Amino acid sequence: MNNKKDKNYRVIKLSIMYVLIALLLIYLYQGFFGTNRETIPYSTFKEFVAQDRVKSCRVSEKYIKGVYIDKSGKMHSFVTIPVEDPKLTDELIAHKVKFEGVPSAGWLTNLLFGWIIPFGVLFLLWLFIIKRAGASGKGLFSFGRGRYKVYSSERPDVKFSDVAGAEEAKVEVEEIIEFLKDPQRFQRLGGKMPKGVLLVGAPGTGKTLLARATAGEAEVPFISITGSAFVELFVGVGAARVRDLFAEAKRLAPSIIFIDEIDAIGRTRDAGGFTTHEEREQTLNQLLAEMDGFDPSRGIVVMAATNRPEVLDPALLRPGRFDRQILVDKPDIKGREEILRLHAKKIVLGEDVDLKVIAQETPGLVGADLANIVNEAALLAARESADKVYKKHFEEAIDRRMAGLAKKNRAMSPKEKKTVAYHESGHAIVGYLLKGVEVVHKVSIIPRGVAALGFTQQRPTEEHYLMRKSEILDKICMLFGGRVAEEIVFGDVSTGAQNDLYAATDLARAVVTQFGMDEELGPIIYERERRPLFLPTPFSPKETYYSQKTSEAIDRETRKIIDSCYNRTKKLLLENRSKLDRLAQRLLEREVVDERELKEIMESKDT
Ligand code: ADP
Ligand code: MG
Ligand code: ZN
Repeated sequence: MNNKKDKNYRVIKLSIMYVLIALLLIYLYQGFFGTNRETIPYSTFKEFVAQDRVKSCRVSEKYIKGVYIDKSGKMHSFVTIPVEDPKLTDELIAHKVKFEGVPSAGWLTNLLFGWIIPFGVLFLLWLFIIKRAGASGKGLFSFGRGRYKVYSSERPDVKFSDVAGAEEAKVEVEEIIEFLKDPQRFQRLGGKMPKGVLLVGAPGTGKTLLARATAGEAEVPFISITGSAFVELFVGVGAARVRDLFAEAKRLAPSIIFIDEIDAIGRTRDAGGFTTHEEREQTLNQLLAEMDGFDPSRGIVVMAATNRPEVLDPALLRPGRFDRQILVDKPDIKGREEILRLHAKKIVLGEDVDLKVIAQETPGLVGADLANIVNEAALLAARESADKVYKKHFEEAIDRRMAGLAKKNRAMSPKEKKTVAYHESGHAIVGYLLKGVEVVHKVSIIPRGVAALGFTQQRPTEEHYLMRKSEILDKICMLFGGRVAEEIVFGDVSTGAQNDLYAATDLARAVVTQFGMDEELGPIIYERERRPLFLPTPFSPKETYYSQKTSEAIDRETRKIIDSCYNRTKKLLLENRSKLDRLAQRLLEREVVDERELKEIMESKDT
């Protein structure tokens, strides 16, 4: 790591700049206080005295300063260096020059005011600049701790009870609290000490809130900073701030460091190639170094939050760094009701308000949206001078909020919600009925901004080679489940199935061209995928080995597979139409259906 060298380089650069500024200041200072004192030879001085042109002077051992008048009557300040001249006093008296002696401390005062103080001030200023730039030569100038703080350090009184819903995330955080309460005990009991915890979730889902509540529950200091605060000003500041942050955390340990919006510094370093950002990189390196460097048994946990985990540098996610990820998901209907209840405590609710209904009406909204709706409803009520916040106020607040969010694709209309419910039910039922696909764990219609981006979800390329043909066909059917359900129920299809179709087409084509599983075309590899091994790219160049005629055959065979799977899916869903309706209905009510409930619905008798 050439961190040290960089640092020295910065110190030198800054110092040179500083010296130039200092010289300029001194020049100005001298000009201001020193007036334009002329230096004259002692002989000239004597002449002026003889000609009665010296008005006054101050005599010391080292110099004589005074004022003389030139021929045109103008006054000049002068200074001259005296020589042995015992008769001077007599002469000055004879020519009526006003004169006084200067005590020998005079030159000291002069030195003090003329040089030491201005230089001292400039020196301190320099220290301050260097400190701020984080380039303090450690040990050399390690005094002057009055530094510029950008993080905030507090002891939050937020508790878990202030975070509604998010039960799963809370359970995961529980262990961190145990650890922070007594790090030594935790270690003795053999717990794996947490070091870095990454909270992942859409904006407004309560990540910051949860982090503060963690500190509040553990009753430890919470030292927080926002990622963007690192990437400001000039190079080196970010790294210095990281150092400050960890120093403060160590001082206050056990404690929590919280880096909000860590994606501002933690972006993949080589992304883009040309747009490397020196400052961000240094900051990130410093962060990695600090995380590797501290001993977790001291009781420091680094928490971070992001809504864009996919852009993070993989180095941040390695073991010993942010190796724990906690998903702070968008709340389901129950979670939304709890959040509403929590925020509604602060207002007086009208009798006609049913928070359950409001929760039903707000799919896809997050905690911040709901808090905002309660707030807005209260404001609307206040504007009307109503005594309570009534249903109509809530309705209006919801309308406003939803209208704003619909544009950003965050909220679903009831019609969209129904489409999605049937679409997902279709996938789930086909998945449940066919043996060749993985077990369906959970069906959900909550729009999952982040969860769907998830870095854990990958197309399992190796698995293709371990799959039987029948399994691949089952998988294609499951992929069609969503679209087919839409077709059966609404007689129309939506664009929501695009990704499914993409994947299904890929698989069907691979059966023919890459796995040699097609009867007509035989066990021949027609295409070899040249996927870069470690870089998942959406476009993988393919090597092909076939003629125009084979190409047509490939298309035809692919189409055959697709058609047969589509028809099979349709048959399955038509046979299970009542279950499809029931599952979709359940999803509309609860938004999430788990494995057990799915089984219940699938095994129930049609009436
Ligand atoms: P994020 O950091 O995920 O963007 P915040 O923690 O800043 O979200 O949440 C913003 C506000 O939304 C919080 O201050 C709180 O008022 C409200 N909020 C969000 N999630 C919840 C929740 N689960 N329970 C209660 N309030 C919440
Ligand atoms: Mg936040
Ligand atoms: Zn789908």
